Amino acid sequence: MGEKAPKPGFEKLVIATHNDGKLKEINELISPFGIEAVSAKKIGLNDPEETGKTFAENAILKAAAAARGSNLPALADDSGLEVAAIGGDPGIFSARWAGEARDFAMAMKKVEKALKETGSADCKARFVCVLCLAWPDGEQEIFEGEIHGRLTFPPRGDKGFGYDPIFIPDGYDVTFGEMDPAEKHAMSHRANAFRKLTKAVFE
Ligand code: IMP
Repeated sequence: MGEKAPKPGFEKLVIATHNDGKLKEINELISPFGIEAVSAKKIGLNDPEETGKTFAENAILKAAAAARGSNLPALADDSGLEVAAIGGDPGIFSARWAGEARDFAMAMKKVEKALKETGSADCKARFVCVLCLAWPDGEQEIFEGEIHGRLTFPPRGDKGFGYDPIFIPDGYDVTFGEMDPAEKHAMSHRANAFRKLTKAVFE
């Protein structure tokens, strides 16, 4: 991605997340576009409760609340890991499986246990990311990305965040936790959703 001029009136964007891992990735993805990103946390906005039943509903909730609260365009990401053999869990509950302490070692153990209990050898999984760009006037745009792969246990690698150490993308032998961050960013669910967003908004 080369240097691009920001859309008029779009020099500043609130990133509606309190998740530092996501914030870092989103900042890296938007940095070529000359937009100043400020986190919702930094400007004192609270994360609304995620009461939606889908990734899209939760992304809209977060982005719309931040756009209203800041009077700036806001971008939210709702994402998670879906494991086919356990009915798509943890899905929209991916963060919540890690508890208040955001203990992903424990969350990954829960996934392993749930998979074992099915007795299935099917380790197929996908990461999903839904981005919502919301404007203070109430306009919203939604972009969805995914990446397919399989799970491996025990977790491997200390790069990335969340469930990265158990996810191996299709066509690879290393987990997202072992992969160079730039390589993950080029192929991830978030990068795929971002490509759709940048095409629609900046090009
Ligand atoms: P939420 O969208 O804030 O509800 O949280 C999504 C959760 O999904 C994160 O806390 C992570 O556990 C997981 N997740 C989303 N994207 C990734 C990723 O790129 N790598 C690893 N875990 C992820």
